Amino acid sequence: MIQGRCRCGGIQFEMPDQAVLSTVCYCNDCRRQSGAPMLAWAMVPAVSVTMRGEPKVYASSERGRRSFCCACGTGLFFTNALLEQMGMVQVRIAVLDDPDAIAPKMQVQTADRIGWMRSAHTLPAFERFPT
Ligand SMILES: [Zn+2]
Ligand SMILES: [Zn+2]
Repeated sequence: MIQGRCRCGGIQFEMPDQAVLSTVCYCNDCRRQSGAPMLAWAMVPAVSVTMRGEPKVYASSERGRRSFCCACGTGLFFTNALLEQMGMVQVRIAVLDDPDAIAPKMQVQTADRIGWMRSAHTLPAFERFPT
């Protein structure tokens, strides 16, 4: 099992270190809710996730439900009718204590990807802010 939490630690959770599916998602809902160009998700059985704290649930679409911490705003989980039917939940990989524990296996919703993300890996890179 591996651990994750929101920024303030008000919500902490534990989940398996193996995902059924792991993706980087560029969809407009992920972009808007996170304020970031993409989100990395791990799909795991919902019953396998144990949680301390109560995230706020936001209906991001007719069927989509996004959970986040009310205190610090960190987004944590996603579910929808299909995932519920499958008994699965999506967890944001980047909120894991060890985000390298689960690597995304594919990129999805690239139709919504911001144009400059296609070449973002070619930008000048600095280990810290340049002086
Ligand atoms: Zn928090
Ligand atoms: Zn998405």
